[in-house]
Amino acid sequence: MIENIKTVSDLNFKNKIALVRVDFNVPVNNQSYKIIDDTRILYSIPTIQKIISDSGKVVLMSHFGRPKGKYSKIYSLRFIISYLSKKLKIPIKFSETCIGKAVEKKISELKNGEILLLENIRFYKEEEEGNENFAFKLSKLGDIYVNDAFGVSHRSHASISIVPKFFGEKKCIGFLMKKEIQSLKKVLEKGRAPITILLGGAKISSKIAIIENMINLVDYLLIGGAMSYPFIKAQGGKVGNSLVDEYNDLKVLKKIIEQYKKQKKTKILFPKDVIIADSFKNYAQTKIVSIHSIPDGWMGLDIGPTSIKNFCEIINYSRTILWNGPLGVFEFQNFSSGTTSIAKSIVKSTEHGAFSLVGGGDTIAALKIKKYENKISYLSTGGGAMLESLKNKMLPGIKAIIS
Ligand code: AMP
Repeated sequence: MIENIKTVSDLNFKNKIALVRVDFNVPVNNQSYKIIDDTRILYSIPTIQKIISDSGKVVLMSHFGRPKGKYSKIYSLRFIISYLSKKLKIPIKFSETCIGKAVEKKISELKNGEILLLENIRFYKEEEEGNENFAFKLSKLGDIYVNDAFGVSHRSHASISIVPKFFGEKKCIGFLMKKEIQSLKKVLEKGRAPITILLGGAKISSKIAIIENMINLVDYLLIGGAMSYPFIKAQGGKVGNSLVDEYNDLKVLKKIIEQYKKQKKTKILFPKDVIIADSFKNYAQTKIVSIHSIPDGWMGLDIGPTSIKNFCEIINYSRTILWNGPLGVFEFQNFSSGTTSIAKSIVKSTEHGAFSLVGGGDTIAALKIKKYENKISYLSTGGGAMLESLKNKMLPGIKAIIS
């Protein structure tokens, strides 16, 4: 990972216009637009404050939702204005466009210490296409480019990976990005042993490369949730009607397990028992069975008590823990105990001095059910970007700053 990446602390913004890519893609109530989780905005405030206190001007650009390249009122970023001005205690100006004469005029009228928020950058299809010409036009809006949008830094979108190209040396990352990079480093490069990575959720396809990359790097790789079923199938087990991701190249999965067996450092563990249900419902009929022998017509919806005990024992003596993905269908209260027990044991380990990093929208939502979110060392603002970083690949948003 990157040692000496330039950050906002290394630059003076006096009289300069900072074009700051933030990630204000926050969950909101779809009627009142009340912000349900403001973490991403809160974490980006120190960067904005640094620029303001230098007497610089701030132009904020962000996406919100998936408007698919055209204007749509429901995806407008206007709802952020009042929230942000309250937090920063200064008025926020707004531009309905992201490129062109009107926005350029608004920027030319900005005084030092003022902030202009641009409308949703994804109202332009060129953003997600990574269009050079669009990126060039955006680059005309500022003197210094700042990336503080970790949640989208794994995307090769115009405002993330192309715009910085036009800024030469005048580009850097913000404080939120720095914290994300440092937290990942604390796990992957400087993690105190035993290091444990816990992966759950439903989609195995996005996590295969991570599982391969963890061999010989960490001490324990714990796999739970629906992620485990293709692996159980690959080992000849019966998973009944459990959810199996469309990725089910069992030969590849079998090979991965063999690779783990060939070395001694990293132990890969799957649940031993599961809670199975006769239908996908909170009040379904349930049984506890071995994960290798789930009858037809039944599906595994949570890890069982023996698996909880085994996983928690490892977490209890781990000194570094990274978690992404629930261990079961935690949205159904009757199948949430695996996920909440794991959350509880990560909190306990953290209280005893372990470093814990948790990411992913569902995983953070599960922590919040028990109000554990402030008891974790660092909550990542980007589940997808965090997973991409675990594949040992440099994120496009970081690469664009250092090249
Ligand atoms: P992902 O986006 O891959 O992190 O998947 C998160 C989703 O996985 C959550 O909505 C969980 O309900 C779901 N999930 C976890 N375990 C299971 C399971 N055993 N069966 C079905 N869905 C699951």
